[in-house]
Amino acid sequence: MKNIHHQINTEPQAFAIHNMWEEAKNIRTFVFKGTLNSAPGQFCMLWLPGFDEKPFSIARDYDGEIWLTICKVGPATEKLFAFQKGDKIGLRGSYGHGFTVKKNEISKNIVLVGGGYGTAPLHFTGKVHQDAGAKVSMIIGARNKDFLIWEKESKDSGFQTLVATDDGSAGIKGYTTHILENLMEKEKIDLVQTCGPEIMMKIIAQICVKKGIACEVSIERYMKCGFGVCGQCVTESGEKMCQTGPVVRAEKALDYPDFGVFHRGPEGQKKNW
Ligand SMILES: Cc1cc2nc3c(=O)[nH]c(=O)nc-3n(C[C@H](O)[C@H](O)[C@H](O)COP(=O)(O)OP(=O)(O)OC[C@H]3O[C@@H](n4cnc5c(N)ncnc54)[C@H](O)[C@@H]3O)c2cc1C
Repeated sequence: MKNIHHQINTEPQAFAIHNMWEEAKNIRTFVFKGTLNSAPGQFCMLWLPGFDEKPFSIARDYDGEIWLTICKVGPATEKLFAFQKGDKIGLRGSYGHGFTVKKNEISKNIVLVGGGYGTAPLHFTGKVHQDAGAKVSMIIGARNKDFLIWEKESKDSGFQTLVATDDGSAGIKGYTTHILENLMEKEKIDLVQTCGPEIMMKIIAQICVKKGIACEVSIERYMKCGFGVCGQCVTESGEKMCQTGPVVRAEKALDYPDFGVFHRGPEGQKKNW
């Protein structure tokens, strides 16, 4: 029998928090020295010894640093936010299918759309596209300017950066989908990749499929093992999001009966988005 431990990284490695800063209200980036050898859009499991283990997208994994951008929402993230520089956590991974990035993307026009903390893995994605020669646009959505993240990095990296907030306190007053539709009128777009609230991603998937533009979405489901054993993260059509996903093609996502409608909690209970 093959030893799966040699094929996928199933054991956490210890990492000390090297640095951290606030991105926005209750959203913090944690920096660790090292690498998980990840591709953009993949995730890792963060272990708080004796407490819990939770999945997070990898916001950066290059130049000898791993960055995770984390929103404080409940017990595990509250505990993590009480940690100090130098405190150790465990990370295992990287896991899952990330965003498609080709080796040569010269003259390709790629649009990334992030909502809330979903913006976190998109900057890494954009950098890899840019290195492959693509033009990158980043559309960032947030409730208001206090919740906006990764805007400066996006501009500093030379991405065309467009912002939407619900109240108009930064960028346009409206949704990322409005900016995307507007951009589609002006530019020929080759690929749209999105991560954020599922209802936003569903609308983006529908717009792209209707217009025949390639699109990928990143689907978050409750995850426990992260590598396809526990079955916790299956969609209603039976696909394990930790392996098939989290990034899937828009057409595929639109076929999942639960996409943009509901997800399941730790005991399998239905929760509407
Ligand atoms: C592939 C993937 C990537 C993610 N990337 C990020 C990220 O970059 N930044 C970030 O802030 N959050 C991310 N999340 C969500 C993050 O895992 C949850 O916010 C976290 O687990 C909350 O734990 P908690 O104990 O603080 O709060 P809880 O009270 O346990 O949960 C708060 C919310 O998070 C959801 N959640 C809780 N545990 C899990 C779990 N094990 N798997 C999936 N959802 C869960 C719950 O359904 C609930 O809606 C990601 C989730 C997945 C599946």
